[in-house]
Amino acid sequence: MTARLTDLTIAEAGALLDGGEVSAVELARAHIKAAEGARRLNIFITETFDHALGQAKASDARRARGEAAGPMDGVPIAVKDLFCTEGIQTTAGSRILEGFTPTYESTVTANLKRAGAVMVGKTNLDEFAMGSSNMTSYFGPVKNPWRGPDGQDLVPGGSSGGSAAAVAAHVCAGAIGTDTGGSIRQPASFCGIVGMKPTYGRCSRWGIVAFASSLDQAGPLTRTVEDAALMLGAMAGHDPGDSTSAPVEVPDFAAALGSGVKGLKVGIPEEYRTEGLAGEIGELWKAGETWLTGAGAECVSISLPHTKYALPTYYIVAPAEASSNLARYDGVRYGLRVEGASLDEMYAETRGQGFGAEVRRRVLIGTYVLSAGYYDAYYLKAQQVRALIARDFREAFETVDVILTPTAPFEAFAIGDKMDDPIAMYLNDVYAVPASLAGLPAISVPAGLGPGGLPLGLQLITRPFDEETLFRAAAALEAAAGFDARPPFDAGAEVTSSS
Ligand code: GLN
Repeated sequence: MTARLTDLTIAEAGALLDGGEVSAVELARAHIKAAEGARRLNIFITETFDHALGQAKASDARRARGEAAGPMDGVPIAVKDLFCTEGIQTTAGSRILEGFTPTYESTVTANLKRAGAVMVGKTNLDEFAMGSSNMTSYFGPVKNPWRGPDGQDLVPGGSSGGSAAAVAAHVCAGAIGTDTGGSIRQPASFCGIVGMKPTYGRCSRWGIVAFASSLDQAGPLTRTVEDAALMLGAMAGHDPGDSTSAPVEVPDFAAALGSGVKGLKVGIPEEYRTEGLAGEIGELWKAGETWLTGAGAECVSISLPHTKYALPTYYIVAPAEASSNLARYDGVRYGLRVEGASLDEMYAETRGQGFGAEVRRRVLIGTYVLSAGYYDAYYLKAQQVRALIARDFREAFETVDVILTPTAPFEAFAIGDKMDDPIAMYLNDVYAVPASLAGLPAISVPAGLGPGGLPLGLQLITRPFDEETLFRAAAALEAAAGFDARPPFDAGAEVTSSS
C-alpha cells in the first residue's frame, strides 16, 4: 500500500499504528518534513521537532509492550501557543511573553501527553487570542493554505489560525485551539476543516493563558468529525485544579457517531438571517437543512430573539474580563520588562511596548466598562443580556435537539483586510458568539465552497454537555456535504511511504 502518511486521519493513523503497519516515528518524520515544507505559512511560533521524535519513540516503545494509551497514541498534533507547556516557550502570540518558558503543563496538554499524542509545534495565534485573522500576532500573520481567486494570500481566520492552517496544510493530523467567541469555529470554516468548541467546563482551563475566563474553552481542530470526537475524548475531563471544570463523566464521543439523525429535531434560527449574510452562505445553510432532512431529521424554524445583542454583549464582557486577566503582565512576574524612571513608568512602558494595538484596545474598553459610573450602564447590563441570550437557547432546546446556522458570514479574506476597521473585524464572529455566551457546545463542519472557491462551514449547536448529539448531527452533515476539496498549498505532497 502506498499511503501519504500526512493524509491519514487520526482514526486511520491509529488503525495503522495498532496493526504495526506504520510506526509513530515514521508518522512524526513525515509530518515534520511537511512542516518544514510549509514554513512560508508561518504556522508555528515554536517548532518542537526533536521533542516530537522523542515522544514518538516513547509511543512506539509503549505499543511494543502492549501498553498503547488509546486512539491518540503516536498521533502528530499541534498545540495553540496559548497552552502552557512545561519547558517549552509559551508566548500567547505576544511580545510581552516572548521567551516565557512555563515550569508547568496545562491540564489539556497534559491529558493529551498522557494519551500519547506527539506534539510537533506550538502554533501561531492572534495576540492573547484576540482577533479573527491572526493578524494581531506579534510573530506575524499566518497564511491560509487556501489562496484567493487571484492567487493572493489569505488569512486563516483566528484566533486559532495557526492550528487551523496546520491541520488544513497536513502538517499534523489534529490540533488544539481555544474558543472564546469563535476562535476555533471561524478559522475551521476559513480553512475547510472541522473545529469544535465543547461545553464551557468540559475541558479544564488550567494552564491556558487566560483571555476571558467565563468564555474560554479548549477544543479540537481536525479534518473529520470522527477525529474531533476522538481528540476531545483525550482532552476532556474534570480537573480539581479548575473550579469551572465540570465534574461530569467523559462519554465515548466517537461511539455516538454512527447513530444518525433520524428523529432529531433541528432548529433554524430566523434571527441568523442577518442583512450581511451573503447569498451563497444563505444557500449553503439551506442545503444543510435539506441534507439533514434527507438523513431523517426534522427541521423547524425557531426564534432566538436576543441574537442581535450577542456581539455587543460579547464585546463588553470579553474585554472586561481580559482587562482584569491581563493586569498580571506588569514587567515584574512575566516576560518583558521595559525600565522606567519610576515603578509606574516601568509598568506603563512595559505594557505599552509589550502589548499590540488590539490588546491595548481591549484593555481600554474593559477598564472603561468596569469603571465606577459605567459599570452599571455597560458591564451589568451586558451580564443581564447574556442571561437573556442563554434563556433563548434554553427555551429553543425545549423543542429542538440541535440548531443549524452558518459558522461565519463570509469566506477567508486577504491578509491585511479589515485591519483598519475593528467593527468589521468583530463581525466575523456574529454567528459564533451567541453559543459562547451561553456556554454551549458547537461545531463547524466544512460544507461547501463560496464564490471565491473558498471553504465555508456550517455550525451546529446543542444543549450543554450533549456533545454526543452534536457529533451525531455533525457526522450526518459531513457525510451529506461530502466536502473533499483540498487547498492548493500541499505540504505533504512529497511525503510518501510504502508500507
Ligand atoms: N474574534 C473574537 C475576539 O477577537 C473571538 C476570539 C476568540 O474566540 N478567542 O474576541
